[in-house]
Amino acid sequence: MFTGIYIHLPYCVTKCPYCDFNSYGTEGIFPEKEYMDAVIKELNMYGDFLRNAQVDTIFFGGGTPSLFTSKSIEQIIFEISTLAKVSNYAEISLELNPKTVDKNKLIEFKEVGINRLSVGVQSFTSRKLDFYGRINKPVDSENVLIWIKDAGFTNFNIDLIYGSADETIFELEFDLKEALRFEPAHISAYCLTIEDGTEFGRLYKSGKLKLPTDKRLGEFMDHTSQVLESAGYNNYEISNFSKPGFECKHNLVYWRSNNYLGIGAGAHSHISTDSEYKWGVRWFNYRSPDKYISINNNSESPVCKKNGLSKIESLEDKVLMGLRLKKGISVSELEKKYHLDFEKEKIKYLFEDEFIIISDGYISLSKKGMLFANEIITRVLGAFH
Ligand code: SF4
Repeated sequence: MFTGIYIHLPYCVTKCPYCDFNSYGTEGIFPEKEYMDAVIKELNMYGDFLRNAQVDTIFFGGGTPSLFTSKSIEQIIFEISTLAKVSNYAEISLELNPKTVDKNKLIEFKEVGINRLSVGVQSFTSRKLDFYGRINKPVDSENVLIWIKDAGFTNFNIDLIYGSADETIFELEFDLKEALRFEPAHISAYCLTIEDGTEFGRLYKSGKLKLPTDKRLGEFMDHTSQVLESAGYNNYEISNFSKPGFECKHNLVYWRSNNYLGIGAGAHSHISTDSEYKWGVRWFNYRSPDKYISINNNSESPVCKKNGLSKIESLEDKVLMGLRLKKGISVSELEKKYHLDFEKEKIKYLFEDEFIIISDGYISLSKKGMLFANEIITRVLGAFH
């Protein structure tokens, strides 16, 4: 079974006001060695599982993994390769903030086995970067994207966010054109979402944050996909675009509800079949990095909550994640796996209004459907009984 390993490195320089990830602003001062020791201890707790697994992807996410030294990253890759069989073609990704690396560090990351980088550019305009509270400036991203190529990386992603207050289509177009100038293999273009518990969430609730209307966001999403598709990128997932063959293998593990092991503070894991749990099981770790370190130091499990999935929860996961993909989900596979019938008639209006498409036995969202993904996915779920 295809297995991905996610390593969560939760430290950032500052906390961005829109971010609801398990990440912490530290001004760059954090207990790197202690955290790495804890990660290694946790990996070893899964020794039995890993012995029988083939690891096809490793993803260092955060937080800001590029704050860690290449030596720490090398140590983790080495530990995984001693515990499990890592495929020769494994995708090994690392997220980086352009403000936190220089050319030498990129060369080092390549030398220790990183073969895919994901660059948190977010925008090439100072106005948007200031709005998002980012530490990186346009010039930092431009330098890093040049150095990445100099260091020999051919597989890298540029992260962009649109939907800032007062954003114009010209600003969005500028970001897309700038990104294309660096010929990345992959572009993730996310619409800004306002999450509870974030600085933006508080400002929004108190009426101090003005955002584009849904109609306007729809236009941005449409424009993004038009520009990137005409430049040869495949919109293989709602917010993700790649050159042929450069889809993010690690994220495909999530979208296909395959097995993944999440290591680190607050990391989530999912195993789709298990001798104990017929429909799969998922669990997550304590979120606090300090607690995560101290628990592992005591050789205790950092798992905060674990639960076996019911048949319906497992189906919900499959539909929820699978419909994010352009290819969609195989109706017959789901009917067979879950012993359920798919009553197409029940959601006939979604086909007629061109929100969903059925082709070769796969059901998927149309471009129009992607704009209302959450609502439509809930309705599709209702057609299985
Ligand atoms: S750098 Fe990334 S992970 Fe860190 S706070 Fe900003 S958005 Fe969140």
